[in-house]
Amino acid sequence: MQNSEMSHPIALPRRGDRKTITFVIPFHNEALNLEAMVDALDAYAKAAARKWPVTVDAVFVDDGSSDDGVDRLQTALAQRPRGPAVRMIRLSRNFGKEVALAAGLDLVQADAVVMMDADLQHPFSVVDAFIHGWLNEGYEIVYGVASHKSEGAVKNAARRAFHHLMNAHGEAPIARDAGDFRLLSRRAYEALRRLGERQRMMKGLYSWIGFRQKAVPFTPLRRHAGRAKFSPLKLWMLTLDGITSNTLLPLRLAAIIGLFAALLTGGYGLWTIIEKLFFGIPTPGYPTIVVIVGFVGAVQLIFLGVIGEYLGRVLVEVRGRPLYLVESDVTLRVQRRIAS
Ligand code: UDP
Ligand code: MG
Repeated sequence: MQNSEMSHPIALPRRGDRKTITFVIPFHNEALNLEAMVDALDAYAKAAARKWPVTVDAVFVDDGSSDDGVDRLQTALAQRPRGPAVRMIRLSRNFGKEVALAAGLDLVQADAVVMMDADLQHPFSVVDAFIHGWLNEGYEIVYGVASHKSEGAVKNAARRAFHHLMNAHGEAPIARDAGDFRLLSRRAYEALRRLGERQRMMKGLYSWIGFRQKAVPFTPLRRHAGRAKFSPLKLWMLTLDGITSNTLLPLRLAAIIGLFAALLTGGYGLWTIIEKLFFGIPTPGYPTIVVIVGFVGAVQLIFLGVIGEYLGRVLVEVRGRPLYLVESDVTLRVQRRIAS
């Protein structure tokens, strides 16, 4: 796309009257999407400046891409010198989307931040609803709630079970189907920055900080190009992180089930003694013992595993390593008004 058609001047009010919004866009191997992303961002920034008293800029976070996405992003921006300011930080390796978002968030100084995927699945049109909720209705967080009809029964059921677990016993309820696509006011993102845990499940953190929050339903678009990066294994790990960082229920279950098993076996023991003493019925030895020993062993191992999950996370937190390392931080485009 050429710049020639962008020759209409935008009647910018004085800068001081405008609020600033930074888009934080993490990407990992999205080479085929970044150019389209820049076009969409430029178009939205232009439209938003007309509709709202806001100025838009963006931080792209390269989460250890191994393709040529960074070069393409640089080229795309060099070819489009007019548009919102764009900064890019590159992490030293792939840290995962949750951490990439945190890295981007750490740089933000704007009045609000909008977090968005780089694959164009999050429609810019929804951002208007975010801004409306923030500017006109005073919400600190406005988040997108995706309809997931297309994802298949298994993934949907898993999603439901997960949210059920988290919401039944977590400290702060988590909105179902809410993702990272959202707007956070300065107050909200500064609060989020203070949560320094290494194992992050953003969803849990968003709800933990509280504030007035509003949901905006939207239909995610199809991925522009490439494939989703969350493998079942990655999702499973993230789910474990989410559970262990949000609720102590699995640990408590150990005590509850232990108590239950004690009552059960105690009762059974008493019954065998009564049988033997008063009715003279011989106790069946071997099978009973095998079943009980096997059952108790299995329950113990399961909860040893649960304790291990929590303990491992304590270790990671105690080590206190930085959340991420930055390889470079460059300004790819400075804010330039559309030619007048
Ligand atoms: N992403 C990232 N680091 C990763 C994996 C993904 O920054 O390790 C980015 C990815 O480039 C995209 C967003 O996170 O911008 C969402 O990822 P994806 O589309 O693969 O997942 P979805 O949520 O759509 O299934
Ligand atoms: Mg996606």
